[in-house]
This record gives sequence, C-alpha cells and structure tokens, in this order.
Amino acid sequence: MIAKPLFNRLALIGVGLIGSSIARAARAQGAVRSIVATARSAATRKRVAELGLADQVIETNAAAVAGADLVIVCIPVGGCGGVAREIGPHLMPGAIVSDVGSVKGAIVREMAPHLPAGIHFVPAHPVAGTEYSGPDAGFAELFVNRWCILTPPENTDTHAVHRLAAFWGVLGANVETMAADHHDLVLAVTSHLPHLIAYTIVGTADELSQVTRSEVLQFSAGGFRDFTRIAASDPTMWRDVFLANKDAVLEMLGRFNEDIAALTRAIRRGDGDVLFEHFTRTRAIRKGIVAAGQDAPAPDFGRPHPALPDVPPLPRPYTSEGE
Ligand code: NAP
Repeated sequence: MIAKPLFNRLALIGVGLIGSSIARAARAQGAVRSIVATARSAATRKRVAELGLADQVIETNAAAVAGADLVIVCIPVGGCGGVAREIGPHLMPGAIVSDVGSVKGAIVREMAPHLPAGIHFVPAHPVAGTEYSGPDAGFAELFVNRWCILTPPENTDTHAVHRLAAFWGVLGANVETMAADHHDLVLAVTSHLPHLIAYTIVGTADELSQVTRSEVLQFSAGGFRDFTRIAASDPTMWRDVFLANKDAVLEMLGRFNEDIAALTRAIRRGDGDVLFEHFTRTRAIRKGIVAAGQDAPAPDFGRPHPALPDVPPLPRPYTSEGE
C-alpha cells in the first residue's frame, strides 16, 4: 500500500481480465482513492458489483467518467473509437485518458480525435495476460514484473505521462515508452504472429482427416498442447488485434513465411547443420527470456508432475525378498 493515492477517482470502462486486474491491483496498492466501473452488459456489471471490484458500478460509459482524473478504457480494440466519442464531452478537464489495447497506432487514430483539448491522452499496453476473459479471470498480481508500454502522441504533457507511468509502476509493471507504430511492429512479432500461428496449427490439426479429434486430444502433451492454450484466447479481442494491426502483421508474416521456407528446404535436403544451427539459436533466446525474469526456469512451464502409480510388490522371481 502506498502512502498517498496517485489519483482521486479511477474510471474503468470494461472490467474483463485486464480491467478487473487493474481494479484489484489499484485497490490492493491504494493507488487511487475510489474506483468507478462500467461494462457493456448488465450481466457483467452485476458480476463486477458482486465481486466488489469497484466503489460504484455505473450503467453508461458517459456517466462513469464524470469527475474521474484517470480513465482507462479496457475493452477490445475495435470498440475504443466509439467509446472515446461517447465519453469525450463528459470528461473532467485535466483528466488522463488511457487504454490497454494490444494495438496502439489504430487506438491513437480512432480515439484521439474525440478527446477534447485539456485532456491528456496517454495510450498504454500492459504486456500481460492469460487465455481467460471476464471479471472473474483477473488477479492483482497480473502486471508484476511485466512490461507496460506507453505510447503518448507527440506533444503529450510529460507530467501526465509520468503520472500514468507511476500508476503502472505501483501495480508492479516495468514501464517503457515508445512510438505507437514501433510498438505495433514489435508486438506483431512477439505476440500477434505467435497467436496467429497457434490459431492456425490448432485449426490445421483439427481439420486433418487422418488424425481423429480424439487422437489430437489424447496425444496433445507434445508441443501442440502449448499452442492450444494460446489458441484458446478470446476471439473478439484477437479478431480486433489482427484487423487493427494489419500492416505490421502482414510485414512480419512475410518474413515468417521466408524463414519457414528456408527450414522447409533444409528438411527436404536433409541439411542437419542448418536445422541444428537454427534450433541452437532459438534455445539461447529462451534462456535469455528466463534470464530476464520474463518466465520461470522450471521445466515444462512448471506444470506439476503426477506421482508414480502405486504398484503391488513384484512377483517372484524378480523380487529380492527372501534371497
Ligand atoms: P475481456 O476479458 O473480454 O473484457 C472486456 C470488457 O470490455 C468486458 O467487461 C466487456 O463488457 C467490456 N466492453 C466491451 N465493449 C464495451 C463497450 N463498448 N463499452 C463498455 N464496455 C465494453 O477483455 P480483456 O482480455 O480484458 O481485454 C481488454 C483489452 O485489453 C483489449 O483491448 C485487449 O487487446 C487488451 N489486452 C488483453 C490482454 C489479454 O491477454 N487478454 C493482454 C493485454 C492487453 P461485457 O462483458 O458486458 O461485454
């Protein structure tokens, strides 16, 4: 808990995995004096109230931002422009408006025109998440030791950027600032492309006629299982990511296709040196990620291993008993 709250009133628009994690962490750390929250459906708003995630749960986006000095829009990227249009006229002068969208260029283009002068717009992307959605899925520690990337447009008030950076720091994140377009290029390769590959490979396996569905499930403990976790991510969120970050994703997909063609050729030619050299390089990258504290070193992502089965004593002549 920090000594003095950084903001008076935090308005959260959208209280799914990310919004509810912000609410939990901000509350636990005393980062804000009060939290108001809203979501699109009455069912989600009811659940947010039941979970006690906010001091007030409000019906409309416009009403939620009244009097808030920090507004964070935590909804799928495709809806952010419309929400900015709704809340623009109701924002308190001097308020900081931010978001958590996984794409930044499109967010800036679609939200900024609706935000009046005197509002500080500081887009953000906490690079943290799971494959689960909704207000029950969040947890206060989600952002600890994860990056939160701020992409303030040029001429954004630096004090506002520092205040938002401090907020994310209190939630446990490491904060970095970069240009929106650069963010989109970096995330296209580190996050968007891996999701597209996972969605593809799980779909391919599902469609293969000679591999029955039950075999895919039965033997999924190979690498396939790890792809299925990523491919279980929210369809709305990821549809919006690919539509909003089209150019960067297509650029990275082009490079990926060239690289997979090179590995295909190595396999066809039986060129073990190319494969070995490539796999050695990628293994070092994994070690680097662990060394940077971005994942645990435990084998197999630390999944618990079941105990050996109980076995009855071995029958003679194998037993040493009585020898
Ligand atoms: P989520 O769990 O599906 O929650 C989305 C929330 O937004 C729900 O509360 C939903 O309300 C609400 N909502 C949708 N449209 C709305 C609108 N027009 N007005 C008000 N509320 C609206 O989504 P999430 O995983 O938290 O993702 C939210 C954002 O975070 C996305 O932009 C995503 O790109 C970004 N992000 C996600 C991850 C991740 O791993 N999930 C990581 C980093 C960033 P209803 O339930 O009533 O529909």
